[in-house]
Amino acid sequence: MAPSGSRSIKRSCKRVLHWIPVLFISIIVAWSYYAYVVQLCIESVENLGEKIVYLLAYHLFFIMFVWAYWQTIFTEPMHPLKEFHLSYSDKELLERVDRGESQQEILRRIVRQDLPVYTRTMSGAIRFCDRCILVKPDRCHHCSVCDKCILKMDHHCPWVNNCVGFSNYKFFMLFLAYSLLYCLFITATDLQYFIKFWLSGLPDTQAKFHIMFLFFAASMFSVSLAALFAYHCWLVCKNRSTLEAVRAPAFRHGPDKNGFSLGLSKNVRQVFGDEKTYWPIPVFSSLGDGCSFPTCLVNQDPEQPSTPPVQSPPNKSVGEPPQFPAKPLRESQSRLLNSGESWRESKGPGDRERTGTPNPALTIENEL
Ligand SMILES: [Zn+2]
Ligand SMILES: [Zn+2]
Repeated sequence: MAPSGSRSIKRSCKRVLHWIPVLFISIIVAWSYYAYVVQLCIESVENLGEKIVYLLAYHLFFIMFVWAYWQTIFTEPMHPLKEFHLSYSDKELLERVDRGESQQEILRRIVRQDLPVYTRTMSGAIRFCDRCILVKPDRCHHCSVCDKCILKMDHHCPWVNNCVGFSNYKFFMLFLAYSLLYCLFITATDLQYFIKFWLSGLPDTQAKFHIMFLFFAASMFSVSLAALFAYHCWLVCKNRSTLEAVRAPAFRHGPDKNGFSLGLSKNVRQVFGDEKTYWPIPVFSSLGDGCSFPTCLVNQDPEQPSTPPVQSPPNKSVGEPPQFPAKPLRESQSRLLNSGESWRESKGPGDRERTGTPNPALTIENEL
């Protein structure tokens, strides 16, 4: 068989294998539905009022949990816009020169041409992906499983068979929250029947088995989900991805773990959006375009209210339209960083220009 043929079969097998954890979760959820609705509510709960309340509340948690899970799995991760990809001539130029300083010189020239890139490698070089042939936007990382650069990559999650990043991080948070609520609700309502089982108060039926295992499964998942959810809440409050928590992003002045933090309220709004009504609903409402992020930068404490906001360079045309309403960078930043003092926005029709204090980071870049 041709090597390319065997490679494609291997790839197909890998793709199928990657769905196994999702299938595992789906089977557990389907069984928990049967165990709770049929075996507990219909077969074991005798009080009609209790039965109705349990079923209504259960279905609310179930629908929200499945909805958030679905969105996390099937929302396509966003990749860098075409302006971050190297042009044909730049690619050729890059291939001709040696790695190292000569390549960096070319990359620095590309970044100077208006790319909103502030982060660097640990050694201070421009972050470049030689698999995707692009300058990596801030917070973007190459996923070895997806073999693509993912915007604001958090981690590749086998339980959703997808990369968790800018496009689905809110869904992932809601998935954790609703799955935790789902498990806690089952644990709490199943508890008295679980105790009755141990005290032999329940008739000797098939329901016993389901009620017992439902309690064990829900309580065990509650513990691990609570830990994971608490950790990600902390990350959202600090405006860090999992990768950034492991290794602080490096700027021109060096690594800065608070480099993207804008203060608690703005950090939360960056993930969940301005409209609180949409926070608990698994629809996309995060702010920004995923390619560039407001940063308080160099030696400034982002938690201080007196910190002057920093304007990012203009975001040029949005090349690939995402499946959700991505907002232009400047629009989202105006909400996240708006103080109205160090810069102002002209509001004329079709006029999106802003004037004000230049971005120190951009100034440094342009002077290079
Ligand atoms: Zn890449
Ligand atoms: Zn991935």
